[in-house]
Amino acid sequence: MASLYATLLADARFHELLLAFDADLADAARAGRCRHCDGALHSAKFKRKPRGRGCKLGPEHDQRFSFCCAVDGCRGRETPASLRFLGRRVYVAAIVVLIAIMREGATAARMRQLSELIGVNRRTIERWREWWRGAFTASPFWQIGRAAFVPPVDHDRLPVSLIERFNGGGRERLLALLRFLAPITGGDRRAR
Ligand SMILES: [Zn+2]
Repeated sequence: MASLYATLLADARFHELLLAFDADLADAARAGRCRHCDGALHSAKFKRKPRGRGCKLGPEHDQRFSFCCAVDGCRGRETPASLRFLGRRVYVAAIVVLIAIMREGATAARMRQLSELIGVNRRTIERWREWWRGAFTASPFWQIGRAAFVPPVDHDRLPVSLIERFNGGGRERLLALLRFLAPITGGDRRAR
């Protein structure tokens, strides 16, 4: 399973697909209004080049879709959900999911190999693990979302226990999980 996911991250088509999903989410957000003043939203993408992608990608991948309120003095920002960016993390969302999954049952040697390949250190990997089992399980999103899973998802095995609940091959499951997580990836930040 680990090698399958590693292949996926190095596959440009997979990243193109994630970008296409993000473009759809952005289209839906653009159709909305500013949540502060009901003003119109204008495109205000920001540059972000996440780490952990295993292949070369065009410059369109180094931007996060975002919108800014057109009303003077408001400048509210709407950043739609994303399958590529998980909040402000510097790594692609898929990596944050996959590393945690690969960590399960992996030998220390394999983990070292993997962290060298992707350029992520052990402390970061541990931090993500803590995030899954701490901040994620405590989030209002999960407090509601977990009710959809019967029997309950085992928190100690997150995110493995979660991805197991989705159907299909590795690619389909990963996409389903990223889609499921999308609501917690957006944000409403005031433009600076
Ligand atoms: Zn506004």
